Amino acid sequence: MSKVDTVILGAGLTGLAAALSLESDYILLEKNSRPGGLTRTEKIDGYLFDHTGHWLHLRNERTQALVKTLLGDNLMEVSRNSKIYSHGNYIEYPFQSNLGGLPKDIAFECLWDAIEAHLERNLRPEPKNFEEFSRTLFGNGITDHFLVSYNHKLWGCEPREITAEWCGRFFPKPNLEQITKGALGLTKATGYNAKFVYPKQGGIEALPRSLASQIDSIQTDSAPDALHLGERWLEVKGDRIHYRRLISSIPLPELLKIVLDLPEALREAASWLRCTKLRYVNYGVKGKVLNQIHWLYLPEPQLPFYRIGCSSNAIPTLAPPGCSSLYVEVSNDHNLPDAEVLSAIRHFFQELGVISSEADIEVEAVRHIPYGYVIFDDHYDEAREHIFPYLENNGVMSRGRYGAWIYSSMEDALLDGLKAGDIIREERKSRTLLSVKE
Ligand SMILES: Cc1cc2nc3c(=O)[nH]c(=O)nc-3n(C[C@H](O)[C@H](O)[C@H](O)COP(=O)(O)OP(=O)(O)OC[C@H]3O[C@@H](n4cnc5c(N)ncnc54)[C@H](O)[C@@H]3O)c2cc1C
Repeated sequence: MSKVDTVILGAGLTGLAAALSLESDYILLEKNSRPGGLTRTEKIDGYLFDHTGHWLHLRNERTQALVKTLLGDNLMEVSRNSKIYSHGNYIEYPFQSNLGGLPKDIAFECLWDAIEAHLERNLRPEPKNFEEFSRTLFGNGITDHFLVSYNHKLWGCEPREITAEWCGRFFPKPNLEQITKGALGLTKATGYNAKFVYPKQGGIEALPRSLASQIDSIQTDSAPDALHLGERWLEVKGDRIHYRRLISSIPLPELLKIVLDLPEALREAASWLRCTKLRYVNYGVKGKVLNQIHWLYLPEPQLPFYRIGCSSNAIPTLAPPGCSSLYVEVSNDHNLPDAEVLSAIRHFFQELGVISSEADIEVEAVRHIPYGYVIFDDHYDEAREHIFPYLENNGVMSRGRYGAWIYSSMEDALLDGLKAGDIIREERKSRTLLSVKE
């Protein structure tokens, strides 16, 4: 049996940042053999692969300063070069404000419908789901040619099943004037993430690696088997650890699964939590490909994948000299076996000129992410309203992308972890003051 003030579960960016902020009297337990979570980088035959594209968009001063300290000279800024491949054309992102790149009849349809939607907006009922939101805001053309088709592939469910809540800052909402200018080619809009930063060397894992080097209490290959919220202990490999506070950044359903004293109502609420599983394929290919494009959105329903990224076009160190490191994100609305997906990708690579022959492919590796995108459906808010107050009342802060069960970025994960650590440090100070007074 052991005792510690705070246990942190999960050594992704959230858990690592929490440990950094706490400084002492904590133990960080990580199931994997090395820290980093989704920000680990895989190396195969000289090619480096993140868990698909992992680009840092830093808007907060605290995280900007932290990342600068952690990466120092090993940091570079990149201007995004992403496109949408639609109707055989490469158009700028976001689709809704760059219609001018489309064939003229499609651009006209999208613009006409956007004008109609604008004129009718006040007559339409309040949108109840993402598809209605998109039709009300942008009209049927933009919705059908991009927003619904792309998001159907990404989320693996009907856009009518998800609320518009996830859009937040990640979703460009141009007004009619901007849409019209884009359709006439008068502007080229670029969306929320026109620039990003990234390590010059080592892939995105350079960030968690540097963070982990500042932390001394990480226990890898360690996942708790049981957790008793009321008595505040958990068991890992037969050892019982008593704690005062628990910061969990592991997926919320995984946390709730091991709670021994979870009320039945919460077990039911846990069953409402939905998340996509992701399948993607890493490719290492000979030659420089995709004409410097960093990633390409693929909305068309006949393709069983929705995005192709060429990471080495943004960061050349991700591939051996003269070669390219790519990832292809496979649609969630198809249950095609791997072999069929790989054959469709190879065919498409030839069509785009990514490869001239299959012999150009040096690496082809299918990968899975069990928790991908949290699904914001009609049960989402209700489930969270049941679960989170209960956890907080029992000393648990569940944080990070899958701990807080949200759609969020690496910067958000760092901030979530830092803030959770700050809260506990403040509590500790108040407790010390109280005990001195007594
Ligand atoms: C496909 C994809 C692309 C993305 N691209 C970007 C991007 O370009 N830019 C951006 O800013 N963000 C991006 N993100 C989001 C970003 O990856 C996350 O917000 C961030 O990495 C989440 O960090 P975390 O620590 O909260 O979670 P995780 O990284 O998931 O860390 C959780 C940790 O908990 C561990 N764990 C799990 N179960 C247990 C257990 N039972 N016991 C102990 N440990 C356990 C895991 O091994 C892991 O190390 C992307 C996400 C995805 C899925």
